[in-house]
Amino acid sequence: MDKKVALITGGSRGIGKKVAEEFAKNGYNLVINYVSDNTNLEGLEKEFKNLGAKVLFIKTDVTNYEACGEMVNKAIETFGKIDVLVNNAGITKDSLLIRMKEEDFDKVININLKGTFNMTKNVVPVMIKQKEGKIINISSVVGVVGNAGQANYAASKAGIIGFTKTLAKELASRNIRVNAVAPGFIQTDMTDVLKDNVKENINNQIPLKRMGTPQEVANVVYFLADDLSSYITGQVINVDGGMVM
Ligand code: NAP
Repeated sequence: MDKKVALITGGSRGIGKKVAEEFAKNGYNLVINYVSDNTNLEGLEKEFKNLGAKVLFIKTDVTNYEACGEMVNKAIETFGKIDVLVNNAGITKDSLLIRMKEEDFDKVININLKGTFNMTKNVVPVMIKQKEGKIINISSVVGVVGNAGQANYAASKAGIIGFTKTLAKELASRNIRVNAVAPGFIQTDMTDVLKDNVKENINNQIPLKRMGTPQEVANVVYFLADDLSSYITGQVINVDGGMVM
């Protein structure tokens, strides 16, 4: 039987990598997008192969619309379909608005929000043709409640929520479900940069008293791609240890 195919942006590290592993463990082949030159593709390929997946790696900046289209074409040439799109690639460039540079606002919006548009716009025609598909967008609780020092990031993640709900409405009749996951604080390179006292403060504000793991986010992403969630679309699921309720 044909294996299902998941395309994950920013699948080389952190949450995206765990998401990719979860799909591989569950019998999917993978299209892994990344952007950095120093990515250890051999090591990653070995890991995913050991989990039984065939992997196509594609180095593409998700801010480039044409390049996203080429990525989708390559995925189709290689695997013939895309069952699941996970828009995960994202960055932060934090500072209070008063000090925020215009270029840092644009950069975060371009990667996090426009990148999500670029990929989705190119993948949706494929899913419509297939008569099915699942799209999972990685937002953040910061997009739900805001956070001082992250106006650019919060705007991008709130934008992803509006985008998700709109597409869920537009695409439900095409048998395409669209949902978002809003992680709280998760242990990855993105949060490793925080000072120990900041991390301790954060942990104290989380009812479960700890940061989450990438695996705990991957579990929910996989659930939203699986038939177990067949009646769920247009939702934002917080994975945040109870931080936002
Ligand atoms: P991470 O460890 O910093 O990984 C970021 C990933 O995005 C990397 O794979 C990176 O690729 C990729 N990426 C960055 N810019 C890109 C671009 N222009 N084009 C293509 N790929 C690009 O981050 P993470 O913590 O796993 O975060 C993953 C997602 O979860 C992000 O959307 C983030 O906003 C969201 N999130 C994270 C947290 C958290 O606490 N960690 C909380 C809420 C939401 P390279 O490896 O090639 O650089």
